[in-house]
Amino acid sequence: MADAHYGNIDIGATYKISSGVVKTANKIYNKLNSGIEITLVPESIVTPCEDDPSIPKNHFSLMPINEILKQSNNSVIDDISVVICVEPSSTIRRRDGTEVIRHTIKLLNLSRTTIEVMIWGAPSKKEGVQLQQKYYLQETTILAIKNGRVCEYNGKVLSTLSNTHLILNPTILEADKLRTWFDQNVSDTHEPSVKYASLPPPTTRMTISDIRRQEEDMGQHHHCILKETTVRIKIESFCYRACSNQINGNECKKRLIQNEELNWYCSKCETTLIECAYRYIVQIQLEDHTDTLWAIAFDEGATQLLSMPAEMLYKLQFDPDVESDTEEVIKFVLNKQYIFKLTYKKEKYNEEERLKVTITRVEQVDFVAESNILLEQIKEMHDEMGAEE
Ligand SMILES: [Zn+2]
Repeated sequence: MADAHYGNIDIGATYKISSGVVKTANKIYNKLNSGIEITLVPESIVTPCEDDPSIPKNHFSLMPINEILKQSNNSVIDDISVVICVEPSSTIRRRDGTEVIRHTIKLLNLSRTTIEVMIWGAPSKKEGVQLQQKYYLQETTILAIKNGRVCEYNGKVLSTLSNTHLILNPTILEADKLRTWFDQNVSDTHEPSVKYASLPPPTTRMTISDIRRQEEDMGQHHHCILKETTVRIKIESFCYRACSNQINGNECKKRLIQNEELNWYCSKCETTLIECAYRYIVQIQLEDHTDTLWAIAFDEGATQLLSMPAEMLYKLQFDPDVESDTEEVIKFVLNKQYIFKLTYKKEKYNEEERLKVTITRVEQVDFVAESNILLEQIKEMHDEMGAEE
């Protein structure tokens, strides 16, 4: 019976069912919130019908995270939260020797509490990958979970079941409310240029291992200069559409959201825009003789490094009329030395340390000036040794 219909029924679509058998839901097998269920029998006919907007798309019995943490293991719950962390996927070997892919993400909601969610199998390959991309792009993503299972794994976590649905950025009122709250109160994902302007300009030259070693000042922003080589640039999604409106003489820069009429909307200016600006947000891996380091370059730094505005690179990648491609541009920049001015900050999320590095300026190496700095350092070392003798 299941085989006849499986694959023909899409989540979120509307269907007419004739000759189904209506029963009281058996709560051992059916963890949904409805008190009744329809069993399909061989005579049942399932036909898709046109979407009726009066039927709500999703029914959620939402529970704040602080309440979820009090639920007993194996409880099945619905949740809507902001995704604040997505770990790279890992392959887990089951007891029977088969392998399954898992994504671990972290959620935060209005209760200001966080919970980890383990996404297994098929949703990990689809929604897990989408979440990861959005996380790298620093997009605020709202995730609705229908039928998540509460379990114990170094504390209470949520885990997906075969009938768990993950809905990214659902179009429900709760999602809008959550996004507004997060963007206004919690978000740390806007371009930092204005925020960092008050810091003194960087003077200290450091190596990557110097940055990693610095333990004090958790949560404080620091400036430094590195003379590094770029070794890797993630180019799958390197820019975003930004609001070009002027607010008090500054560009708004807020990430635009496409609305249902396919117009670009700025939630900060509350206006719809026909033309939008393109701004970079690129992940760049730097390397020196001590270590490697992933950093984010926003519009200013990335334009300096790639020597072209984001819109131009976007056209190279997506405009079929343009012959040259992004790979050529990237290849030109890779494995060369630059002077990077960085801002970095160490953060702690549940015992886990994260180093957040932003490239604020990229300059060509002035080899004469660099040699002079090196000579200065050698002289200093020499003088110190002389003093010790
Ligand atoms: Zn705007």
